[in-house]
Amino acid sequence: MIKLLSTDFDGTLIAHDEQPPVLPGLFDAFRALRACGVKWAVNTGRSLWHLDEGLKREFHFPIEPDFAIVEERDIFLRASDGGWEPLGDWNGRAARDHTELFHLATPLLAEVLSFVERLDGASAIHDKGRFIGAVTRTNADMDKLCRFLDQLRARLPMFSYQRNTIYVRFCHEGYSKGTALSELARHLGVHADNVFAAGDHHNDLAMLDGKFAKFVTCPSNSCEEVKLAVRTAGGYLARGIASAGVLEALEHFGVWKNGVASV
Ligand SMILES: [Mg+2]
Repeated sequence: MIKLLSTDFDGTLIAHDEQPPVLPGLFDAFRALRACGVKWAVNTGRSLWHLDEGLKREFHFPIEPDFAIVEERDIFLRASDGGWEPLGDWNGRAARDHTELFHLATPLLAEVLSFVERLDGASAIHDKGRFIGAVTRTNADMDKLCRFLDQLRARLPMFSYQRNTIYVRFCHEGYSKGTALSELARHLGVHADNVFAAGDHHNDLAMLDGKFAKFVTCPSNSCEEVKLAVRTAGGYLARGIASAGVLEALEHFGVWKNGVASV
């Protein structure tokens, strides 16, 4: 029985190269499942502002999620005034842990910056004066950068990263889409056996290994590492792209059949 849906946004709900980018049937399914008490969280690398843009202005979602997990870390719930409010003290703890991390990782980050500067066409990403990530010209260059980051992690295990295609964001190892989903499920009193998670790229791996969600899936456009993780966790590899794949998975797991929710 599924009580909580955790879906990535870009590439999982949204097919950027398809028309329509989201199948209307997905909205029907989510509406029906939520009418049965199922909660829905978008779990994304986007910032809260960027997610709101995506939901409202880019893709005109007719429904809004109950929760937003953004930047693979911070958790927000829908407030009564239609805005977002932080869930408990999780985001505050995350901010404090990241301040400590970036302090301790200063020497490592200097090495990362010089590595990025040597990659043709790559750029460092800064936020409020902090070097928080990078973008490379190609996936192959990001592979190289991630291998370098993996070497550095041996010196400071709390230093980790979240990769999404040619983007990487540095983070504390205790924070990921998986741990944030686990915190949300704990808040809701929902066991991992009742959680569904769908994702398509590296930053989704942490919620697709079966630890935080029993029902895991990925659309056909997912990267190979995600497909392997979902297969290993006994999840469902969909044939459809993005929302078509998510719909297929809901049918596969038996909670959505012929336009009727069954949870
Ligand atoms: Mg994605």
